[in-house]
Amino acid sequence: MEKSRKDARLRAQLEAERDELREALSHYDEVERPNIGLGNHMADDGTEAFDQAASLALRRNQERLLEQVEKALARMDAGTYGLCERCGEPIDYARLKAIPYATLCIDCKPRAER
Ligand SMILES: [Zn+2]
Repeated sequence: MEKSRKDARLRAQLEAERDELREALSHYDEVERPNIGLGNHMADDGTEAFDQAASLALRRNQERLLEQVEKALARMDAGTYGLCERCGEPIDYARLKAIPYATLCIDCKPRAER
């Protein structure tokens, strides 16, 4: 496949992922807003507190992911997308297809994270 077509596919993948994450994150706002100023009954409900902590952790993950996706799209616009941040070599297309926001090639990626 031509590089331009690969890039177009990866961009579509990144944009879809970005939209999905934005959509997911916008739901958190809807869910959380009604709780502001309603602190009374929340303190003695352990399950609710646990759910909130879990959803907060998930939300943080999604926010981090969204940031990585947006940075990848910015690199695409800048023309530096798909190059390893450490060695400057092109990142394998198979790797980008699996993780379109990857910033390191497979050789530079720490062994534990492969
Ligand atoms: Zn590298």
